[in-house]
Amino acid sequence: MSSIEGGRSDPDGRADPLHDLRTFVDELEAWLVTGPATLDAARAPIPSFAERVEVMSRLMADLHDAGWARYGWPESLGGLGGTIVHRAAMWDALARRGVAGMALFEHLEVLAPTLVALGPRDFVVRALPAFLSGRELWAQGFSEPEAGSDLASLRTRAVAADGGFIVNGRKIWTSWARYATWCLLLTRTGTPESRHRGLTALIVDLRSRGVEVTTIVQANGTDELAEVVFDDVFVPADRIVGQLDGGWAVAMHILSSERGTFAWFRHCFLYQHLREHLDHGDAGNDFGLGGALLDLVAVTATSHDGLRSHEAGVPLGPRATFTKLLLCAAEQAVNDWILDADADLAVGVQDAATAMRRQEYLFSRIVTVYGGSQQMQLETIAKQALGLP
Ligand SMILES: Cc1cc2nc3c(=O)[nH]c(=O)nc-3n(C[C@H](O)[C@H](O)[C@H](O)COP(=O)(O)OP(=O)(O)OC[C@H]3O[C@@H](n4cnc5c(N)ncnc54)[C@H](O)[C@@H]3O)c2cc1C
Repeated sequence: MSSIEGGRSDPDGRADPLHDLRTFVDELEAWLVTGPATLDAARAPIPSFAERVEVMSRLMADLHDAGWARYGWPESLGGLGGTIVHRAAMWDALARRGVAGMALFEHLEVLAPTLVALGPRDFVVRALPAFLSGRELWAQGFSEPEAGSDLASLRTRAVAADGGFIVNGRKIWTSWARYATWCLLLTRTGTPESRHRGLTALIVDLRSRGVEVTTIVQANGTDELAEVVFDDVFVPADRIVGQLDGGWAVAMHILSSERGTFAWFRHCFLYQHLREHLDHGDAGNDFGLGGALLDLVAVTATSHDGLRSHEAGVPLGPRATFTKLLLCAAEQAVNDWILDADADLAVGVQDAATAMRRQEYLFSRIVTVYGGSQQMQLETIAKQALGLP
C-alpha cells in the first residue's frame, strides 16, 4: 500500500495516522495484534449469515470505539477525517488477519458514500455513526420483479401526502433486508412514462408499519436476499436523498461505488480466500492458480486507480464497469481453482470451513448479476466507452 502524499507530523516529529497511511496501517496492525476477542470471533468460519452479521457487527463496534472505523469519513458526520484510502487499508488489514468477508458492511462502502454526498444532513449525522458502529444496518432497494436491468421502468410508487410520502410496491433481491434497519429505496414519483426522470430516492425505516420482508434462500443455502413489500408505508418528507425526481443521479452515484471502488474491498477477501487455501493443503492446478492471481492483480491495478480517483473527487464513469467485469473474472477464477484443488467441496463434507468454501464457490456463479448483469456492463462499455451505436 502506498502512502498518502504530503504526510504530516505532530510537533514532536511523529507521523500521524490521519495524514500518513503507513502510520495508520502500522498502528491499526499493532491494535489487531493485541487480539481483540471480536476479531478472533470474526476469523472463525461461520456458515450462518445470521451469526456472521452478529459477529461482524460486534467487530465493527470495537473498530468504531477504537477509532479505526471512523477514519475515511468526515469529522462533521462523526468520522475522524481522512479518505477512502484509510477505509481501503482497514478492510485490507482485516482480510489479511483472516476475517472472511465484510458481511453486511459491504453496504457501508456501497451506500454510505452516497448518503454522505447527497443525503439529508440532519439524518446522516445521526445515521452514519450508527452504521459505522454496526448498530443500524442498511439495505438497497432498487430491483423489482419487472425492473432489474431496465431499472428506469420501476413501479414502486411514492405519492406526496401530509408531511411526506405514502409508498406502495415490491422490491426483490434486496440484499441483507432481513438484517437492516434502513433501506435506500428507489421510488417512482413521476408518471410511468417519465422513466429515469421521475424517480426519487427515499430513506425508509424497515420497521415501519406496512413493510414486510420475506427471506429468499439461495442455492448456496444463505439468506442474504429478500423480497420487500411496501403497503401504504409513510415516509417523512425529510428523508429524500438528492432531489425530488432526482433519484437517477443517486442510483448512478451508488452504482459507481458498487461497480468500481467496491472491487477493492471484495478483492482483499478473495486474496485471503486464496492464501488460506494455499495454507490448507494441495495447491493443485498451477495453471489455474496463475490465472487466478493474474486476474486478482488486474483488479488490484484498476481498483487502486478507482480509489485514487474517488479520493480526488473524479467520477469513475464507464471505468467502474471495467473494474466490475475484472472482479467477476477474478472471483470465478479463484473459486474455480479452489474447486479444482479441493475434492471435499464437491462431495458434501459439512465442516464449517468447507461449508463456507462451498458457499463462496456457488456465490461466485452469480457475481455476474449483482450491480447490473455482465451483458448490461458490456453494453455500457460499447456505448459509453467505445461510442458504438
Ligand atoms: C447476489 C445478488 C445480490 C443482489 N442485491 C441486490 C440489492 O441489494 N438490491 C437490489 O436492488 N438488487 C439486488 N440484486 C439484483 C440485481 O441488481 C439484478 O438481479 C440485476 O440487475 C439483473 O436484473 P434481473 O435479475 O431482473 O434480470 P433481467 O433484467 O430480467 O435480465 C435477465 C437476463 O437478460 C439479460 N438482459 C436483460 N436486458 C438486456 C439487454 N437490454 N441486453 C442484453 N441482455 C439483457 C441480462 O443480462 C440477464 O442475463 C442482487 C442480485 C444478486 C445476484
